[in-house]
Amino acid sequence: MAQRTDRAEAFGQNLYIDTRGATDEPIPFTEAVVDGLAVGGGLYVPQELPSLSLEDIVALAKLPYAERAAAVYKAFNIDLPDEVIDELMGRAYGDNFDDAAICPITSLDENTHILELWHGPTSAFKDMALQCLPHFFSASAAQLRKKGELDHEFMILVATSGDTGKAALEGFKGVDGVSIGVLFPDGGVSDIQRKQMVTTTGDNVQVWAVRGNFDDCQTGVKRTFADETFAEKLLGEHAIALSSANSINWGRLLPQVVYYISSYAELVATGKIEAGREIDVCVPTGNFGNILAAWYAKQVGVPIDMLLCASNDNRVLTDFINTGTYDISDREFILTSSPSMDILVSSNLERQLFELTGRNAEAIRQWMVDLNERRCFRVDEETFCRVRENFSADSVDNATCLATIRTVLDEYDYLLDPHTAVAFAAAQNLRGENPVLVASTAHWAKFGDNVYRALHGIEPHEALPAEVASLTGCELNRRIAEETGKRHIPAGLANLDEMQVRFTEVIDNDVEAIESATEAFLSR
Ligand SMILES: *Cc1c(COP(=O)(O)O)cnc(C)c1O
Repeated sequence: MAQRTDRAEAFGQNLYIDTRGATDEPIPFTEAVVDGLAVGGGLYVPQELPSLSLEDIVALAKLPYAERAAAVYKAFNIDLPDEVIDELMGRAYGDNFDDAAICPITSLDENTHILELWHGPTSAFKDMALQCLPHFFSASAAQLRKKGELDHEFMILVATSGDTGKAALEGFKGVDGVSIGVLFPDGGVSDIQRKQMVTTTGDNVQVWAVRGNFDDCQTGVKRTFADETFAEKLLGEHAIALSSANSINWGRLLPQVVYYISSYAELVATGKIEAGREIDVCVPTGNFGNILAAWYAKQVGVPIDMLLCASNDNRVLTDFINTGTYDISDREFILTSSPSMDILVSSNLERQLFELTGRNAEAIRQWMVDLNERRCFRVDEETFCRVRENFSADSVDNATCLATIRTVLDEYDYLLDPHTAVAFAAAQNLRGENPVLVASTAHWAKFGDNVYRALHGIEPHEALPAEVASLTGCELNRRIAEETGKRHIPAGLANLDEMQVRFTEVIDNDVEAIESATEAFLSR
């Protein structure tokens, strides 16, 4: 953890507080990024939000995406020099994306616009943040080191159920002062997802398969983080501190605010909406990071009316938005056709509630205690009103999700991935008069098995025909591409069968196994 800064010396004006009120003195952006989580378990938010005029927003359309991002960071007044921000954004949003627009918009009709957030190296929307956060992390650590407030480097440890691991590997590979280790459940991720991870290049990366399911994997990693003796040993012998790259880090959230501001500018510039026209935004939601970013975009001035929250059968957020009660006391974790939204505890909701209560850290602390002890909390009536003013929500089951993929292909000749299909279906149920921007969070070829089921009328959990089941993920995608005429498969997914497998080690899920694997990697 970074030591305390002398505030007078702090470069930026905009400091960060936390949702549980444990930070007695607010900290600058660079420290919030390096710390990740505040001491009392709260999440960092900026003390002040910038305010952008409609003109400011619309004018962004003239700039390339990297410069739009830099402009937004400067408006948030982060404590890195302008020229550093410019340079980092040039690296974060350049030819590592397969479209010059970075996140282009495809309009299905006059009022339905698909924001394609999957043109990055791993073909899932997590690239939008994870191609950026590692640069912030490295630059923040370097700045703290220069000020004499940091004397070690970092190793990021990530437990993944599929998408996050690869996006984090691609983001952190080759970044100065940081290495990364990813753990995935052996046999618990798709052929495509596994190959994406085990073929990652770079000297500072490591991947392990872990015996057990995702929960075992995550528990093992959490225990490793909590082991203070191990932390001291790593610091003493390797000058390394462990850190995580999960979506509670403000440095992962801010890049997501950018694309909602940018896409509004884009819709105006391309004549699809008139400047000032309100839009609704529909987001397939898991940990609540993406939809929260849209809410922040609304706060800083983007004319967004309603935020439409789309859930799959794990509908805890939809129920919360409709009732004001967040209850997981009697809820099972359900495996769905949109696995990256399978979640029970949605961490970024805490930030949203902090904001909607007028930043009442005491209320948040109490609700988090309730959630921990009783697996349930209920917000007060006034907060619930604020929730209803901003959000509406719906859940979409597997069968509807797959049917939507089929219908949208037939009607619009556009192929959705299952997560985007959940959002598209929810938007149909929730929308009013406003144009809708649907966040599209993955390329269809990341989830080829469920897309195949959708196209062939196979039930959500039914096995694929033997002949299809024997294909590799890449072969299956090529078949879907031929059947649908959607021939473009992103480079990072198309050639996985030919790439060299670098990581084959399988380890146990206990702390000892994870710690000794980590040490072996650091001593390499
Ligand atoms: C992570 C992910 C989501 C959920 O996003 P949150 O910010 O966690 O709500 C949705 N779709 C895909 C494909 C994802 O990888």
